[in-house]
Amino acid sequence: MNQSMQVLQSILEQSQWAAPEEICRKQISHIQRLLHHAYETVPFYKNFYADIPRDITQKDNPIVALPILTRDHIQAAGTNLTSLKIPDSHGICYPLETSGSTGKAVKVLGTDFTRLFYDAVMLREHTWHSRDFTKTLLSIRWGKRDFAYAPIGHKQSTWGPPINQYKTTGPSVFINVASDTRSQIDAILLYDPHYIISYPSQFAALAEFCLTNSIHFSSLEEIRTTGEMLSEDYTNLLKQAWPNVKISDIYSTEEVGNVAQQCPEYRNYHINAENIYLEIVDSNNLPCHIGQPGKVLLTSLMNYATPLIRYEIGDYAEFGEPCKCGRQLPVIRKILGRKRNRLILPNGESRFPYLGDREEIKHITVDAAMRKFQLVQHTLYDIEYRIVIKKPLTLFQEEELKKFFQRSLGHHFNVTIRYVDQIPLGPTGKHEEFISLVSIQ
Ligand SMILES: [Zn+2]
Repeated sequence: MNQSMQVLQSILEQSQWAAPEEICRKQISHIQRLLHHAYETVPFYKNFYADIPRDITQKDNPIVALPILTRDHIQAAGTNLTSLKIPDSHGICYPLETSGSTGKAVKVLGTDFTRLFYDAVMLREHTWHSRDFTKTLLSIRWGKRDFAYAPIGHKQSTWGPPINQYKTTGPSVFINVASDTRSQIDAILLYDPHYIISYPSQFAALAEFCLTNSIHFSSLEEIRTTGEMLSEDYTNLLKQAWPNVKISDIYSTEEVGNVAQQCPEYRNYHINAENIYLEIVDSNNLPCHIGQPGKVLLTSLMNYATPLIRYEIGDYAEFGEPCKCGRQLPVIRKILGRKRNRLILPNGESRFPYLGDREEIKHITVDAAMRKFQLVQHTLYDIEYRIVIKKPLTLFQEEELKKFFQRSLGHHFNVTIRYVDQIPLGPTGKHEEFISLVSIQ
């Protein structure tokens, strides 16, 4: 491990236990410095903050008075969002790829300095969960078409970058998420990994398969989820399939790296406050209190190439009480999903829909062996219910299902059932159980 990473690691080891006032004081000081840099060197912010008094950078909590940055702003700004004077000490500049999983890719640059912090919080997550780097890692994620299909996948002698730059590791295998479930199971049986990382919906499909076919993974110690909301339903299903396997979730975005990760002792997510200032705000952009769901705004404290300040990433979450583990990093209790996963009621109210008890669905569709479903809201009144099923439901079952969803969603929507052979994955290989196509602010 290089020296700067070693130093940073020991700083992060200390700072996670620091008093909350101390963590907050350091964040404010980073924000003040970043704002000053953005005002002075980034053409976009000169214009965006034109009505904001310059002395705000000296205020105790300058950020709350600033406008919110959206994906549309970033796309429209183009290179105007790049600093004209990146500090030399921050090293070279390179693009942080964003895949545009919400349909709008954004281009953001970072520096060596930015990367150092991204990697440091990534290493912190490994340290918290005491992983043995010599063991085998299998990753099932989005990949290029025709690349690394299961069961063979793409085998490497290390865990790959960035981890292999800092640690000596064992082998890893990459599997394209587009591989079918049976082949993914074969890959896991073939490579017998200790750790698997993938999206919650992928694990859910694997868990169902293992339960139905009594398949056991002999060396599996930990499931690492990322990229989608890890619901209570999924967690229960994964525990049922693999009772002795640990489950840990990471909340990460391509633009700012690992935002938060699950505590090694409790289910809370701890925010990497040394690298990110995270706000949760309501529909009037006012701060949410603990337990109140709201929009996530991110400020990337160590990116001086493309400063992201109050960036509305598109996720919803809620803050939690301080964690009992003693770490003082702020807590997210729940990550709720993305804006388009919110149900819009005819009166304009929007919320994350409750999709009902899975046991009840199984009870209604008994014998029909439903494999997967997706609800799509087309209008304020119409919901399409796409299902992958072995044999069609009876008329009675269809009616029961419709009533079940009307009850769960809390409104008498017009529910239409559509049988499909498969539900295509989203642009980056992720599955969403509920999507609203209704556009409302
Ligand atoms: Zn904790």
